Amino acid sequence: MHFSAAQSLGRSSAKARENRPVVPVLKISDITYRTFPVSSMTLQSSECANFHPKNPFQMPPAKRTKGACSFCGKEMTRAGMLKHLDSCKKRALQNKERNATSKPSMNLIQLMAYYPYTSEFWLYLEVKSAATLKDLDFYLRQIWLECCGHLSQFCHGSYYGNKIPMSSKAYKIFEPDTELFYAYDFGSTTELKVKMVGSRNGTPLSNNPVYLLARNNMPDVPCDKCGKPSGWLDLEALYENGEFVTLCDAHNAGKAESDYGESQLFNSPRTGTCSYDGPAVPPY
Ligand SMILES: [Zn+2]
Ligand SMILES: [Zn+2]
Ligand SMILES: [Zn+2]
Repeated sequence: MHFSAAQSLGRSSAKARENRPVVPVLKISDITYRTFPVSSMTLQSSECANFHPKNPFQMPPAKRTKGACSFCGKEMTRAGMLKHLDSCKKRALQNKERNATSKPSMNLIQLMAYYPYTSEFWLYLEVKSAATLKDLDFYLRQIWLECCGHLSQFCHGSYYGNKIPMSSKAYKIFEPDTELFYAYDFGSTTELKVKMVGSRNGTPLSNNPVYLLARNNMPDVPCDKCGKPSGWLDLEALYENGEFVTLCDAHNAGKAESDYGESQLFNSPRTGTCSYDGPAVPPY
């Protein structure tokens, strides 16, 4: 059941959404928050908007998910992948081949983006140093987050840190070990961290500002009722008790017609939040 921490409105059919009780809205300064029956959800005043300090449905850490190297397919844990990317022969060969072309060489920044409250969700990205945080924001939205075009924000360090304009170029923001806080949606927030873990000079592997080096595999989550592989989140348990209960096909039967609707599990830390319904695939 340790898929991810989810905190709010889950995905559902249009019919189920109509029947769902209306969630009250609390207006604080210029940011609109949905209110939840969770006493621990206090708001912090900070320079970086009033983000929720921590997801109240925080789950205990799950077993570490492995992910696949984009170059050779080798599967490693998050920490192992960082070492692997440095020594991957196929990656080195591809970099060498690109460097031998007439295309321009530049500084490339290696980042790790991850969900900080459980260990399942992580990405290794190579970003052109002239790429902007907006480019990175776009990538994170597409692969993990986008549901209804919510606002997002990068800050230094934590939600207490200063906001960083989206127009900032990567080379002006990232130094070795720089770690940024990122929030998508200031109501039902998904928080991420983005850390610089390396750099190189060379020809980029594509014309896009961001290149996916590695990504965690879909977490392997058993059904909480029977232990078989699950593919669904129990929205009733989430709404009523704040519990992240995962279900197999059999135990999810009939949920689509219930007041709460049904929600698939996705390879994304936003599963179960707002109207997120995937597809959790990279944009390029
Ligand atoms: Zn590899
Ligand atoms: Zn949304
Ligand atoms: Zn089951």
